[in-house]
Amino acid sequence: MSTKIWYPSAVWYEKAVYDYPLGQEILKRVTSLGIPLQLIESHNKSRLELADPQKRFYASKKILILGVKKDLRLQNCSPSADYRLIIGTSCPGFCEYCYLADSLGERVFPRVYINLDEILQPLLTILRNNRDQKTTSEISSSGDPLATEHLTGLLSKTIEILAEEPNARLRVVTKFPWVEPLLALKHNGNTFFRFSFNSEYVINTFEHGTASLKERIDSMQKLGAANYPLGAIIAPIILYDNWQQDYYNLIKDLAKYLPQLETFELITFRFSNRAQMKIFTRFPHSKLPFPKNGIRHKAFGKYVYDEENQQKIKSFFIETLSTFFPQSHISYFV
Ligand code: SF4
Repeated sequence: MSTKIWYPSAVWYEKAVYDYPLGQEILKRVTSLGIPLQLIESHNKSRLELADPQKRFYASKKILILGVKKDLRLQNCSPSADYRLIIGTSCPGFCEYCYLADSLGERVFPRVYINLDEILQPLLTILRNNRDQKTTSEISSSGDPLATEHLTGLLSKTIEILAEEPNARLRVVTKFPWVEPLLALKHNGNTFFRFSFNSEYVINTFEHGTASLKERIDSMQKLGAANYPLGAIIAPIILYDNWQQDYYNLIKDLAKYLPQLETFELITFRFSNRAQMKIFTRFPHSKLPFPKNGIRHKAFGKYVYDEENQQKIKSFFIETLSTFFPQSHISYFV
């Protein structure tokens, strides 16, 4: 069964959205779809008045917020890129271990920022002042840009603008399958597309509301046919009973259907005390294995697998990837 394309139950918007042609365009589109609109003071401060935290979480994920991004400073995006390019926040999916759980707090609404030209300006200045140097920007560090693309067109516009900058390298990562709007774009190979992959068990058990493994592979094949350079993120890598066999099968499938994958980014499971509490509030029956042993405390209440486990995972992935993808390379393992 394919993942049904997402439509919000309501769109909340800041008044200033009307000052931008792109904002007007999006408002017109959602109005024509019969989606109710509501004016808000600030994209950052809006809340749903629902006492039950679980109901509030699910209801918030159904509302799309349109806002104007005020802080336009570029931030570093180690280890994946030089800069973070933020055109949106969050997404309509329900991954139990969402990497944004800590930073978003209660503000889990899918949000998009319609002042794209202003957001892109600092990056364009850097690109044009440093023509000899390739500059990478990561557009998925604060949300999933493909999840709302059919309503906003923001990712397509960004891809086309950066296609005209010879030293620009845009990096996208997604878990959603709706790639059609991107297939006919002129991208000049400047957009490097990754899907976030995991074992079929992990996707089906913990990544609710996102594409299945098969859909991710199918969508990536379409992007490959449209000449986008491709890579994969495997994250979070989780230790559970059958992890080795399941991740082996994943890599074998990727090699069969997507042999052109150039790079792999590998991120092991990590969690904080705060995130753990939130997960059990939002997903009371969660089967996520929060280990008591074999982990180490990093800092600020954050835990990662201990050295022995990290080494075990690393060796397994190096060996398996070198068997199935001898030409590709591991960009980083954390
Ligand atoms: Fe979070 Fe990404 Fe999952 Fe959306 S797809 S819930 S942003 S981890």
